[in-house]
Amino acid sequence: MIIFDLICTDGEHRFEGWFGSSNDYADQQHRGLLDCPVCGSANIAKAVMAPNLGRKGNQQPVVSRTVDDRPEPPTVAKPVINKVAVPAEYQEMIGKLVKAQEKMLANSEWVGDKFADRARDIHYGDADEKPIHGTASKEEVADLAEEGIAALPLPLPVLPPESKN
Ligand SMILES: [Zn+2]
Repeated sequence: MIIFDLICTDGEHRFEGWFGSSNDYADQQHRGLLDCPVCGSANIAKAVMAPNLGRKGNQQPVVSRTVDDRPEPPTVAKPVINKVAVPAEYQEMIGKLVKAQEKMLANSEWVGDKFADRARDIHYGDADEKPIHGTASKEEVADLAEEGIAALPLPLPVLPPESKN
């Protein structure tokens, strides 16, 4: 998992974004999926790492950390919604969320992009009932919902197993 310091170019609001990889960031930015948690602007860029940058009173403090400080993310899932912006005051909460998600996924099977098919098999009794997680498009999730099959978005990004070398 990678955390980037991001800044919205409209209001100069700084915040953190968590991503599965730097490609994830590029992809989400390219598709306009990133937005500012303060003002909702979609004009997001990576913040320049400047420790002595003067801060105005209304800006979020930027906490610098190394990747190694963070708990290992589970290696078996990618959430349906994979964008989390993390203002500093929520970081402790996010830490708990990471742990909760790890626990939640411990007994769940990663099914990659076959989530919709597998969820259907389970729902219609063609497969044993068990927890699964994977990726699904908005359309797939909407179709599942229409059939009465609930899919919950995972709160945090997770690396699929094949992305780990
Ligand atoms: Zn903003």
